[in-house]
Amino acid sequence: MSPPPEGPVVAVHCIAQEYWYMRRAQCECGGTWVPGTQALVHAASGMQDHHQVTCRSCGAHREFVFDIGRFHGQFLAEMKAFRDLPPEITSRLEELTQPTMEGLLVYLKTLTDAGDTLALDFVADAVAQFRRDAGGEAPTGEAPGPTGPRRWRKTPAA
Ligand SMILES: [Zn+2]
Repeated sequence: MSPPPEGPVVAVHCIAQEYWYMRRAQCECGGTWVPGTQALVHAASGMQDHHQVTCRSCGAHREFVFDIGRFHGQFLAEMKAFRDLPPEITSRLEELTQPTMEGLLVYLKTLTDAGDTLALDFVADAVAQFRRDAGGEAPTGEAPGPTGPRRWRKTPAA
């Protein structure tokens, strides 16, 4: 049984945002948290990710709890929908699931309208990291990077 969370249950949009949030948080001593065990929990309020972390400096322990209902349920629903699609569509899933600028702007507007400043900060940090990567500057290790392949950087076949 895990100890009660010492902070709020934080609603996130993806796994990468969970690690971004924990990197941004600090121990009372000013140290950074080292991720430890992670568990998927069926809470009364919905699906949660529980992370046990240890302070790099003083060795203190704490737990971060994330509400993943937004994307966990969405992922399952989308996978079910994909199974119902004809093969000529499912064979193009990688192409179809690539983000587009129009879709991205609609999504950012949705987050803005919802007042989700935490999600907007996450996106802003990711953009800053991509700019540093493209400019060849030394990474700070504080901003998130993509957790999967960078499909959106793939150049189209000539
Ligand atoms: Zn500490």
